[in-house]
Amino acid sequence: MSINIKKHKNILKEKKTFDKMLKIYCKKKHQSKELCKECLEIQNYVYKRIEMCPFILNKPFCAYCKIQCYKKEMKEKVIKIMKFSGPKMMFRTPIQSFRHVFQMIKYKRKKRG
Ligand SMILES: [Zn+2]
Repeated sequence: MSINIKKHKNILKEKKTFDKMLKIYCKKKHQSKELCKECLEIQNYVYKRIEMCPFILNKPFCAYCKIQCYKKEMKEKVIKIMKFSGPKMMFRTPIQSFRHVFQMIKYKRKKRG
């Protein structure tokens, strides 16, 4: 498989994963059927970061990345969404595909002590 195809696939996968979490979050927190304005903004921002990421080929997930290209305020929002939706997704989807989410949550917990 060529690098470009793999890159493209990873970008799509990462977007899809984030979409799912964002939808769960928005539905429960904002009582919105479709993504609300605030969440659409977050989605837009995250999509751009994913597309620009130099490590898309082999990193676990943006929020877990060392480079931290997210603005502080956005990063906090994204982490909140992941924490809220990540555990809920465990019941619907194979754990394997969302391993990065749990890795990140675990990492955060460890850091906090
Ligand atoms: Zn929302």
